[in-house]
Amino acid sequence: MSELRLNALQKTKKNTIHLNGKGHLNEKISDIFSQNVFGLSAMKDYLTESAYYAIISAHKNRTRIDSTVAEHVAKGMKKWAMDQGVTHYTHWFQPLTGLTAEKHDAFYKPSLDINGKGIESLTGRELLQREPDASSFPTGGLRNTSAARGYTIWDPTSPAFILELESGKTLYVPSVFVSYTGESLGNKAPVLKSIEALNKAASPICQYFDSEVKSIFPTLGWEQEYFLVDETLYEARPDLMLTGRTLFGHSSAKGQECDDHYFGAIPDRVQKFMHEFESESLKLGIPVLTRHNEVAPSQYECAPMYEELNVSVDHNLLVMDTLHRVAKKHGLKALLHEKPFGGLNGSGKHNNWSMATNTGSNLLAPGKKPSTNLKFLTFFVNVIKAVEVHADVLRASIATPGNDHRLGANEAPPAIISVFIGDTLSTILKNFKLNGLEKDGQLVDLPMELDIPGIPEALLDNSDRNRTSPFPFVGNRFEFRGVGSEASCSFPMTVLNTIVAEQLTLFKQDVEALKAKGKEEQDAIVSVLQQYIKESERIIFNGDGYSKEWEKEAAKRGLANIKTTPYALDILHSQKTKLLFENHGVLSSEELEARYEVLQEFYVNKIRTEAELLKELTHTHILPAALDQQDKLISLYSGYKEMGLTKAAEGMKAQVEKLSGHTQNVNLNIEKLEKAILKAESAKDVVKMSKCYSDSVTPLFDAIRTDTDALEVLVDDSSWKLPKYRELLFIK
Ligand code: ADP
Ligand code: MG
Repeated sequence: MSELRLNALQKTKKNTIHLNGKGHLNEKISDIFSQNVFGLSAMKDYLTESAYYAIISAHKNRTRIDSTVAEHVAKGMKKWAMDQGVTHYTHWFQPLTGLTAEKHDAFYKPSLDINGKGIESLTGRELLQREPDASSFPTGGLRNTSAARGYTIWDPTSPAFILELESGKTLYVPSVFVSYTGESLGNKAPVLKSIEALNKAASPICQYFDSEVKSIFPTLGWEQEYFLVDETLYEARPDLMLTGRTLFGHSSAKGQECDDHYFGAIPDRVQKFMHEFESESLKLGIPVLTRHNEVAPSQYECAPMYEELNVSVDHNLLVMDTLHRVAKKHGLKALLHEKPFGGLNGSGKHNNWSMATNTGSNLLAPGKKPSTNLKFLTFFVNVIKAVEVHADVLRASIATPGNDHRLGANEAPPAIISVFIGDTLSTILKNFKLNGLEKDGQLVDLPMELDIPGIPEALLDNSDRNRTSPFPFVGNRFEFRGVGSEASCSFPMTVLNTIVAEQLTLFKQDVEALKAKGKEEQDAIVSVLQQYIKESERIIFNGDGYSKEWEKEAAKRGLANIKTTPYALDILHSQKTKLLFENHGVLSSEELEARYEVLQEFYVNKIRTEAELLKELTHTHILPAALDQQDKLISLYSGYKEMGLTKAAEGMKAQVEKLSGHTQNVNLNIEKLEKAILKAESAKDVVKMSKCYSDSVTPLFDAIRTDTDALEVLVDDSSWKLPKYRELLFIK
């Protein structure tokens, strides 16, 4: 057998119970939860009263912390961290790479006195602001490479935490990342601004219903899907290592068709990994409470209890890092790519989103009688309308090269943005459109007659689930299912917050305009909502989002169906989108333009890497094995012929022809690929280049793969170099 693959197969860590990992969760969760977070209880113990309340107020009322208070906080935070054995601290920020970044500094400051020992300290200034050089992050032209200054500034609304590695402990301070001239160079500042925009737009509307409400904030509960493969096999797959997905690989004879993995018993080795991963996450204050097997073999999911959106975005980034870190300890590799394996389900990151008030109520909770609940209907209809008007921007927010494999391939969910609301709520909206608010209303959440002996009565939800919709309503929240598994939630959530803020602002204007004409407030609200329902009908779709019929129907309704990233991004470049973000103070038009460039550049870089690697692996891994096989067959053919075994010889000949047919196709398509890459590289700007890669280079990936995958099942198993799908997916 090919040495590469054989070695990998022999070294799989499936029999190792755990390497360095602990693999158990036998502490009570309430004992370890938030243990490594500078949260309320640590702050109470370590901060002066005024510093403590300043942080609470920053969190609740988004007030600013001044430098005197920062001095107190820094002192307390450092003391807390050092009491846990921390030596270093870092501002933890989110550049436009979509990842997180950090630059560690020791607390220790040497003494200038030659005999002095130096001290550990953290000043208020150091806590508030750092200046990493950071000149090599993508900026989309927001600054010249020569103008390297970028500042990280403490975000007190997301708690600092300690990351505990075997090598030591570091204090992490969540931070925004801005340029010398104040532009956002990262993803966190726009999230914070969009939260404020939503608060500004939604709070006055709450006043129509409840004068107690002073502020609102969005909530987010993400569900993270991922694959786990044995680390040794992963390392024998250069494509997984460099691109996160398999560029080659014939489907395993058995895949997901029996649904035997979905929600099945979690394999022991995986459960050990999960226990440790969860324990690490819980200590960081991330409430990961749900775990299960997903549809594809070796695919899993974890989900936390939802949190305030900014913290939840940070927590998801932290969870993605933690997945990678802990998997390694268990000899596993976590694959977060949206489509690591052809022919199997890809991975998403459902973003469950809602809005909550400072008084603790969920603005999207329908209550028992939604048809009488004007507050619910107001927010519900406005979100639908926001999606209807800004579907294109929402689509752009989830456009990444990895996600093209899901959205562009009629997988779950499709590239057409639509909203699922289910039959019950559809009927309620229909009636509301005609007759306005009901007085008595029908109860939802009805008991279900099961008639199974010994089984208690169940409750029926107000909507069924729809797995094929990119944006379904699920009981008391919307679930943005289109977000990619590898993506940060930050941009999709920034967009969602902003379009809803925009819509609610217009709603208020429309209602006030009617009131000014003498309409009663409630009547004005009802009539504006009735109008909105009419205008939004085309975005509501309760059927099967994968079907061909929906593609046709959506086209008739005038809904966009943009399948690839470079084109989906174009809307970010438009005047309409620039105004939208600028009006709400979320992104200036320069900042938006910069994102547009960075995202296009990201696409080019990813696809270029895939193309280059595909070429290389074809020459170094695939074709040599095919040629070996061909030689073997040819010598058999000659042997049989000499022996006068004509039939056997003919058989060999047929096989050789099949093989050489595929190798010729591969060679031909590789030649085409080389030309297509050259053409793309000669494009005048990055947008043209990314479109050229998308139009001319990526279609060849599939073409090449058709033949290389066919070769995989024609070539002697012992000469095939790359670990096969069945090995990657079923060795646990
Ligand atoms: P399912 O697989 O049924 O969709 P999960 O339990 O995997 O459900 O995930 C549902 C997610 O939705 C959880 O993170 C949950 O906390 C979150 N969620 C529930 N209510 C809200 C809400 N009001 N706002 C935001 N997220 C919510
Ligand atoms: Mg879900």
